[in-house]
Amino acid sequence: MFVNETSINATGRIHLLYMNSSLRRLFVLALAAGTGLLCLQAFWMHNEWKNSTDVLQRQITYAFQSAIDSEENKRKQILTVYLKSILSDTNYVDIKTRYNEKQHQWMINMYDTRNKKDYSSWTNSEMTLGPELTAEQKKMIIDRYVNDNVKKNVEENVIFFYTQRFGELWTQKFKQLSLDSAYLQAIFKKQLLEKDITTPFVIRYFDTSLVSLPLENTGNAFVTKPVYINYLTINDYRKKYMAMAYIYKPASLLFGRLWLALLTTFLLLSLSLYCLYRMYRTILQQKQLNELKNDFIGNMTHELKTPIATVTAAIDSLQYFDGLKSSEKTERYLNTSRMELQRLNDIVSKVLDIAIYERQEAKLNKEPVEILSLLKMVVQSFEVKGVVFSYEIQSDQDNITVQADKTHLKNVLYNLVDNAVKYVPEKLQLVFTVSAQMGTVIITVKDNGNGIEEKHLLRIFEKFYRVPSGNVQDVKGFGLGLFYVKQIIGQHGGSVEVNSNQTDGTSFTIQLPV
Ligand code: ADP
Repeated sequence: MFVNETSINATGRIHLLYMNSSLRRLFVLALAAGTGLLCLQAFWMHNEWKNSTDVLQRQITYAFQSAIDSEENKRKQILTVYLKSILSDTNYVDIKTRYNEKQHQWMINMYDTRNKKDYSSWTNSEMTLGPELTAEQKKMIIDRYVNDNVKKNVEENVIFFYTQRFGELWTQKFKQLSLDSAYLQAIFKKQLLEKDITTPFVIRYFDTSLVSLPLENTGNAFVTKPVYINYLTINDYRKKYMAMAYIYKPASLLFGRLWLALLTTFLLLSLSLYCLYRMYRTILQQKQLNELKNDFIGNMTHELKTPIATVTAAIDSLQYFDGLKSSEKTERYLNTSRMELQRLNDIVSKVLDIAIYERQEAKLNKEPVEILSLLKMVVQSFEVKGVVFSYEIQSDQDNITVQADKTHLKNVLYNLVDNAVKYVPEKLQLVFTVSAQMGTVIITVKDNGNGIEEKHLLRIFEKFYRVPSGNVQDVKGFGLGLFYVKQIIGQHGGSVEVNSNQTDGTSFTIQLPV
């Protein structure tokens, strides 16, 4: 027996030690994994943010450049249309055919109507030319001339004096076509919208000969690189004007693009951390359960050993020490053995009850039960056992009845009184209060003990839970009594609560539907 007990305790302790260090290692590992995950995610998000910033910056710069190009093209188009209208206007220029004696062919002759000596001429192989040009032919010649020559010149920012006056008009118009900032603004806005960039922006123009360009990065805006623009004419020969675009609220733009990734990251990370936390909690609970189980086995061994040892001693003295010769001794030893065996039976039944309860709920045989007489019955069973205590039953009615299983309800009250007897160190005073109100019967069992610490109060109804220090250490028990109380009362559709403090003792309040 002695060897057995040591081995149980030793294994239990070794197991606990192992649990502690392995748990700590697991916790550190989980913490390291969690931190690593967090860092990795933060690093990834930082990179993603940086990449998105670069992409946005590139998109904005590209949009700005192409808006500036479109605006300039628009001006060039206006110039081309204007030049075409001049070519079609006989007040300035006329087109006729001219026979070239040397080459023996008709040529096209474009000349200033005010000065016919000022002309250009060329051949056209696609058209059969004669002394007269039809209106249609003239139109075709102008179209082709504009497409092949004027347009290209405008594109290359070259002013060509095909005739003196034509060149002068060209120069004049060229100088008038300054930047259309409203158009640039509109086209840039359109370009940005195509890229889902919707935050406000401004375009600023700088005459670099008068002011120096501001720094590109402002923090509260995306700023494009300064871009050279033809501000005054289509081709600013002084090349001193520059433009920059400022796109405000860069953070909201980036959030707009990254919110899904950010949210997913945040959710996944929270989920991982939550799982880690739950895992840690479960392991901790398992560890506590293991400790409770070890305590239970220790207590159980002790409780079972005592009656066995007593009965063995009684039999020994009857058999080997002439106990049988004295009828008084025989009677006493047999009585002791009976009591001890009864105790053994009680313990085994208690454990078996809980074991059965694990698999299925207790079967309730409900009947009308009168609470006050049930209480008296319970108290008497303690008095019969020789337990010394004083008690008081307070009730505003003589007869309070509930529909309940009498045996189970008696066990419940028995457990509460038994606990008071066990845990109140001296001069136990019990106060029972019974009242009935609005279809509910309230039974309170109050003692005058040292109470239960608050941190244990929530757990004392758990299976195997025992308050691990103080008066409990030398009181044997299995941590099953209150678990049973809670289950049975719950099955009756009622509830049980505990109130406890060091000065007032502990009171258990049971509420049962009538
Ligand atoms: P057991 O009495 O077998 O340990 P219980 O489930 O009946 O198990 O009680 C659980 C714990 O609650 C006990 O270990 C004890 O510490 C505490 N307890 C219960 N009733 C009282 C009481 N009246 N006064 C002080 N402590 C109590």
